[in-house]
Amino acid sequence: MILPLLKGLRLTLKMFFSPQVTIRYPEERRAISPRWRGMHYFEKNPAGETTCVACGLCVAVCPARCISLAISERADGTRTPGAYEIDALRCIFCGFCQEACPVNAIRLGQDYEYVHETRADFLLTKERLLSSNKG
Ligand code: SF4
Ligand code: SF4
Repeated sequence: MILPLLKGLRLTLKMFFSPQVTIRYPEERRAISPRWRGMHYFEKNPAGETTCVACGLCVAVCPARCISLAISERADGTRTPGAYEIDALRCIFCGFCQEACPVNAIRLGQDYEYVHETRADFLLTKERLLSSNKG
């Protein structure tokens, strides 16, 4: 009768003096792998605009079909995304869009805290991709 209790106490004592494996998240955070594929963001040029040239390669390669692009032209004739949107709820974070992009415009960042309350919050528009935090 008392033997299981003693066994349990022995285990408690053993774990009490073992190295701690848990952390106090979110006050403490583990370093994540540089290869982590988190939430997307757009690289910016010095003027703060996206470097995307609206080639459509990311749209073509996306296996989840979750990227939509509307091509627009600047006054100097260069192409730019008039609208660009990723549905993060359909995205499988494969990273193909990042790999396919010829100008490294669309990137997958390190952000892994993407819990939201509404579906609309998961639509990554051009503006959100430009303002999102890479870290
Ligand atoms: S990470 Fe993959 S699924 Fe997500 S938008 Fe890019 S290509 Fe599509
Ligand atoms: S993000 Fe890259 S691959 Fe996608 S349309 Fe823009 S330039 Fe092309």
